[in-house]
Amino acid sequence: MEKIIEQFLEMVKLGGASRDERAVADYMTEKLKELGCSVYEDDAGERAGGNTGNLIARLPGTLPGCVALSAHMDRVSNGYNIKPSFTDDGWIVSDGTTILGADNVSGLASILDGLRRLKNSGAAHSEVEVVLSICEEDGILGARLLDPSLMKADMCFVFDSTGPLGQIDVKRPYKAMIDMEVVGKRAHGGSPEKGVNAIKAACNMLAGIREGRLDEESTSNLGVFHGGPKEPGTVCGSVKIRCEARSVDRQKLMDYLKYFEEYCREHIKGSGARLEFSYEIQHGNCCYTEDDEIVKLAMGELRAMGIEPTLGLTMEGCDGNVYNSNGVPCISFGMGNANAHSLDEKVKADELIRSGELAERLILAYSRRQEGKK
Ligand SMILES: [Zn+2]
Repeated sequence: MEKIIEQFLEMVKLGGASRDERAVADYMTEKLKELGCSVYEDDAGERAGGNTGNLIARLPGTLPGCVALSAHMDRVSNGYNIKPSFTDDGWIVSDGTTILGADNVSGLASILDGLRRLKNSGAAHSEVEVVLSICEEDGILGARLLDPSLMKADMCFVFDSTGPLGQIDVKRPYKAMIDMEVVGKRAHGGSPEKGVNAIKAACNMLAGIREGRLDEESTSNLGVFHGGPKEPGTVCGSVKIRCEARSVDRQKLMDYLKYFEEYCREHIKGSGARLEFSYEIQHGNCCYTEDDEIVKLAMGELRAMGIEPTLGLTMEGCDGNVYNSNGVPCISFGMGNANAHSLDEKVKADELIRSGELAERLILAYSRRQEGKK
């Protein structure tokens, strides 16, 4: 069995979740050290309430520059007691009672394999920085807690896209979280005229608002609506609402947030309730085209492997959104994964094997480029 597949299966079986990345992190630390890396673990675990920090591993190089490879160590829920097996047509699947964990064990295995190939080749290369986050599945929390000054790379390849090998996600959105409270007045349900019902005010306020799919690169979602006392015999005095909005384009996002606030303020009028409104931009975007250096480099390597690249837009954020906002250009690769986050999650074994080859090629292509600049 290929080493990358063997390690993929081992890591999948270790189990894990956001805030419980310990087993996977210890495995990666050991293997990275065997490959000649130094490994540093930050304090993000304590700050996130978990048992593991982000890992930053460094493989020294003899050529100038530094290139990063990134993946995340956590997985969505139902990620323990995974029993992977092979289908006749070459997929690795779970037994259907759990996720497979290919999101993002495929990325971890690809990075290890890329470094192993690099070591075996003996080729000269630039410094390689491996950035492995915690709590990616929980609002990209680990990457947001990472001290940006720990990343020295001037380019980062993220191995965390869903899709076939050849898929490169070059566009990912900004994301804003919107927090609202509709404050009415609590009263006895038998004397409703003494109260102001926050549920009714909030529903009327939101009933006609533009949300959901906004355009091809923008979405919004009314996600959480929470309020009321325990007893239905009380007029509801307060409702809290959490929403989010995303757009690849910053101006579109800002315009939508302005519209959203103005719409709510206009439509709370006359209800007797008042509105508290705030938002925060949770992370920035990634937005590259085939004219950008990082994309050209990746497309060149995929073509050299005989694979025609596809440039994609995904509305999901990833660690790359944060690193990119911190000034390190990021794009993200498919590795033959499908049905992420579901019990039908699977990965195509032969594409995963070639993802390791891609990781090595990206490091070498970056290194050649740096050598040319000397
Ligand atoms: Zn992922």
